[in-house]
Amino acid sequence: MTEKLAPGVVYGDDYLTLIQACKDGGYALPAVNVIGTNSANAVMEAAAKNKSDVILQVSNGGAQFFAGKGLEDTFDAKVLGAITFAQHVHLMAEHYGICVVLHTDHADKKLIPWVEELLAQGQAFYEMTGKPLYTSHMVDLSAEPIDYNLSESARLLEIANAMEMSIEIELGVTGGEEDGVGSDEIDNDKLYTQPTDCLQAFELLAPIGHFSLAASFGNVHGVYKPGNVQLRPEILKNSQELLEKTHGLDKNPYDLVFHGGSGSDKAKIEEALGYGVFKMNIDTDTQFAFAKGVGDYVEANAVAFKHQIDPDSSTPYKKQYDPRAWLRKGEEAMIKRLDEAFKDLKSAGKSLAES
Ligand SMILES: [Zn+2]
Repeated sequence: MTEKLAPGVVYGDDYLTLIQACKDGGYALPAVNVIGTNSANAVMEAAAKNKSDVILQVSNGGAQFFAGKGLEDTFDAKVLGAITFAQHVHLMAEHYGICVVLHTDHADKKLIPWVEELLAQGQAFYEMTGKPLYTSHMVDLSAEPIDYNLSESARLLEIANAMEMSIEIELGVTGGEEDGVGSDEIDNDKLYTQPTDCLQAFELLAPIGHFSLAASFGNVHGVYKPGNVQLRPEILKNSQELLEKTHGLDKNPYDLVFHGGSGSDKAKIEEALGYGVFKMNIDTDTQFAFAKGVGDYVEANAVAFKHQIDPDSSTPYKKQYDPRAWLRKGEEAMIKRLDEAFKDLKSAGKSLAES
């Protein structure tokens, strides 16, 4: 029987237990990008409703938004926003009765100082509370030469590991763009990670600490016309098999992350789950769900968004324009979209949390 975990933010050995349970059980956790307490709470509510554990993450832009758009687009706002987001989740997660993984999203070369500062701030948090601020940070140097990607990842993993944290790295390139990171113009062969590159990463990083791997198998961020890129999950299988053979390891030794999953064919998702994918990032689809929930409400209550009191009937519209009314519609629609994600990823009913 799988070990149970206390509800709340998980890290270190508990994070490894959670990942192993996903891989053994053939399911993955949605990693949902959030930008404020509305979306963060909606994700935790959805996870509790579906009895699934979940991953909450912020991009650098999401972190800045969390701090407040009124602050200039500074480095500080991105750091402060990521800290306040993490603190909110540390306080609230256990009250939702599920396990939550705290993650940051893509940090390319120019955003490495952001990760470094979060590690420094995380060190202070760790000394104060005995817990890391984040479960894991993503270091995405996939656009750089592989030797640089891996040596930088190793340097950061060493710092992270000392406070029971993991990192996620990327090999190959996810197409499209995620919050300013990425590009539409890349060679097609870069969209498919090479098994030998993965092996090189494992041999350098595994002795240092725990890492997860975003391997590309034709994934693209955002939702585009079908047929643009071909998803080929068997690429993941090839990487797993090379590592199994080379180091005599059990099935699916890599902890894999599926980026650019929005709009993916459900059969391809299912196939990827069989090859050791434990985390699937979702942003575009939940953004749209939130927007549509609000949009439908505004459309149905159009007068209340123009007049405090109805110009003909003098009906007061306070209940309709109260931001809690329409932001809640956004949350509810996001939760509904996540019901589908928990089902697609087969994580519903599988939370390891037990108080
Ligand atoms: Zn991504």
